[in-house]
This record gives sequence, structure tokens and C-alpha cells, in this order.
Amino acid sequence: HLRVRFAPSPTGPFHIGGARSALFNWLLARKQGGKLILRIEDTDLERSSRESEENIKEALRWLGLDWDEGIDKGGDFGPYRQTERLTIYNDYTQKLLAAGMAYPCYCTEEELEVERQAMLDKGETPRYTGRCLHLTQEEKARFEAEGRKPVIRFRVPENKQIVFKDMVRGTVSFDSNGIGDFVIVKSDGIPVYNYAVVLDDALMNITHVIRAEEHLSNTPRQILIYEALDLPLPQFGHISLILGKDRAKMSKRHGATSVDQYRKLGYLPEALVNFLALLGWAPVGEQEIFSCSELIEQFSMDRVAKNPAVFDVDKLNWINAHYIKLAAPEAVMELALPHLQAAGYIGATLNEEERVWLIKVVAAVQEYISYAAQVVDHVDIFFNDEVKFENEEAAGILKDPDISKVMAAFREKLMALDVIDVPSVQAVLKAVVKELKLGGKKVYMPIRVALTGKMHGPELFQIIPLLGRERTLSRMEATLA
Ligand code: GLU
Repeated sequence: HLRVRFAPSPTGPFHIGGARSALFNWLLARKQGGKLILRIEDTDLERSSRESEENIKEALRWLGLDWDEGIDKGGDFGPYRQTERLTIYNDYTQKLLAAGMAYPCYCTEEELEVERQAMLDKGETPRYTGRCLHLTQEEKARFEAEGRKPVIRFRVPENKQIVFKDMVRGTVSFDSNGIGDFVIVKSDGIPVYNYAVVLDDALMNITHVIRAEEHLSNTPRQILIYEALDLPLPQFGHISLILGKDRAKMSKRHGATSVDQYRKLGYLPEALVNFLALLGWAPVGEQEIFSCSELIEQFSMDRVAKNPAVFDVDKLNWINAHYIKLAAPEAVMELALPHLQAAGYIGATLNEEERVWLIKVVAAVQEYISYAAQVVDHVDIFFNDEVKFENEEAAGILKDPDISKVMAAFREKLMALDVIDVPSVQAVLKAVVKELKLGGKKVYMPIRVALTGKMHGPELFQIIPLLGRERTLSRMEATLA
């Protein structure tokens, strides 16, 4: 049975690339009826935090990527946090030491640096030379007496080709001579990623390791450890880097990079999932909007691309706009709320009447936005009674000699209404057009400009009920005065 895992290091904001790795694993698990395991790789004690772990779990839940085993869920192969598995790692370390496949190394940072520099000077790629491989008992005792704490290094076999078939990249091979004996356990007894990951994946019966391309060069090291311990190899699949539109590795400078940032801007989880799925996976055909179940149905590793995925924020916005249009105005309003508050349009609390009004305001602008924070860019016309013309052309519209007739007719009919709502305002506007025989445009455009200063925007029959009779008429008068 297929068992995949997502194994984040909780060392900071949850990056979009991490979410994509989680998604691909999730899709594969769901498609094949396998299991997804969530494991926390927190062996970097300085940089790991529980806060970041919480943040990752929260983001996964928000995206709808549930896991079957792991942190918070339990399972038969726990614990699922690496710092809680230290005794397990230690048992294997003892085996490797006893078999001579690993050895303690007492070299200091300074000594290693001198060695490194010497190799660089000779034009060689620096790697550990194996100085501590043949230490005698006396030498070891002397270092210990000096208070040196050893790291444990893995003994890399010489002249070995490490070849594996990657699900995405095809056959990949590395020469073991390029890999120096590498550290598997630090001097404080904590294993490094490359070591812990092997033991965990093997002991948790992981069948497929799908992760970011940046780990490709770690894979030969990991395979050597599998082989040394006679553990069954999983299949590997390394999904391509995510680049910005300028083809540089995606970074802060390209805009938001964490899931949290997108969430706060008012992107919808189903849109982000849809977008992330297309970041490196190519569906058959031209379809671009996919529901989760369609993704599960169509996803397959053999359509995951080898070449880098380009993060196109315009495409994300286009996809998100699609989902925003389908969302309930109330939900979009909730997402826009903090942004409306930050912009000073509304206060810290809303009463029921204000809420209902605000939902309608959001409904009126929903089709113009890509993500909820953009509501702010479209609502000034509802809050600000001081009308400013957006340009000369807009101002010019009100210079038409027919304007006073239009305004008078509109005013009279609006005054006569009992209830100002969408149908009644629609009827009023139609009646003005009919009465004046000027054509729709010569009625709607001046009213629009008089009320908003703009030539485009939400439907007038949406704007006017939201302003109400008083504000509508006083705005008109002030603009035309
Ligand atoms: N903890 C590693 C990371 O977050 C996971 C790598 C892997 O999936 O093996 O990059």
C-alpha cells in the first residue's frame, strides 16, 4: 500500500513550495487510497519552533490537506516528531559504529576550515578527507581528555556509482567519490536531517518520497545509509524548483511567499490548491479550473514536469477571482474586514445594520476583485461623499446641456419612491430613459459620474440603494453645484 509523507522543518513561515509538496503527496495518497503521514523534522533545534509547527498544521487544515497519521493524529509508527525519536536514532548509530560504517570525528571547526581552504586552493571541491577515520584508541582518549566532543561521520564507500530512478527526473547518478564522509550525528547527539530522514522513512514504511528538487543532492547520501543498514529503498520523486517570473528562485522579492500571507490577503484555499497543483503538474488538456476531487482524479506523477515551475501571480489572481465570484458575499466580506478596518473605512466593531450593508457593498464589487483585500480599492464610492472626477473625460460628461433635465427627472422619481431597493431603482432609471427619450447611456453615465466621479463601476441600481435617498440626492447636488 502506498505510504507517502510530508515532513516539514518547522523553522519559519510555511512557504508556498512546502504547500505544493504537501499537496502533491496528498493528491497521490488520495488518488491511490494510500496514507499520508505528517512528520515534523525539528532536529535543527535553534531554528525550529512549536509556533512554526502550529502554523504549518493550521495552513494544511485551511488548505484542506488532511493527513492520516502523524502529529496530532497518532499512528503505529510514532512518535512523529524527530526530537522525540532520539533513542531510535541512537540505536542505529551504535550499529553503524560497531560495523565500522560510521566513526567519531574530533576535528574542530578551525581544523576543518584549514583543510577546506587547502582543497579550494588546489582547485578541488572541498570535502572531508577522513582524518579521523583511523584514530587509535590513544588518540581518541587524548581528544576526549581535551574535552572535545565528537560528531559521528558516515563512512562513504569509495568508487561507487549511486544510481536511482527518480519518478520525475528519470535515472539519476552520483559518484560517491564526490561525497566526503559526512556528519550524521552532531556533537550534541542530535542527528542531522540526512540521517534521521532515512531512519524515519524506512521505519515508517514510506513507499514514495516526494519532495522538492533542492533535496536531490541529498538523496545519494541517504541511499548510502539505506544500503549500509540494509533498509528497503523507497521510490524518490523530486519536484522542480519554483521560480519567479524573472526565472530567479522564488523569494520575498517576488511578493508573498508564505501560505499565511495569501490567506491574509483574502485568497481562497480552493483557489490556492488549484493554482499549486498546476505548479509543476500538467493536466491532460486545456482545463485550468479544477475542484479538489477533479485534481485527485486526474493527478499523476508522470505528468509532473522536470523543468522549473514559474510562479505566475497573475494566473493565481485569475484563478482566485474565479472562486471569489462564486463565494458568498458574506464570506468575502469577512475576509475583507481587516483590510477595510486598516484602511479606516470601518471601525473595530460593526452593528447588525452595518454588517448587512457591508455585505451588500462587497456583493456589488465582488466581480471586480481578485482577492478579498482588493475590496478596499473599490469601495471608496460607498464611503466617501465627496465626489472627485477620475479624469477630464468624466468631468466633461456633466457639461452636457441635457444634464439638468436628467437630474430633475431622476430626482423627482426617486423622491416618489416608498422603498429604495434594487428593483425600485431599476424601475426609476428605466422610467427616466423612457420619459426623456435620450437613450440609456445619456441617462446612466451622468448619474454615475455625479454620484461616483467615475465612468465605470458597480451597477447604478446597486450603488443607489446602498447610498440611500439622502446621500444620493445630496451627492448629486454637491457635484452639480
Ligand atoms: N524537512 C525537510 C524540509 O522541510 C524535508 C525534506 C524531505 O522531504 O525529505 O525540507
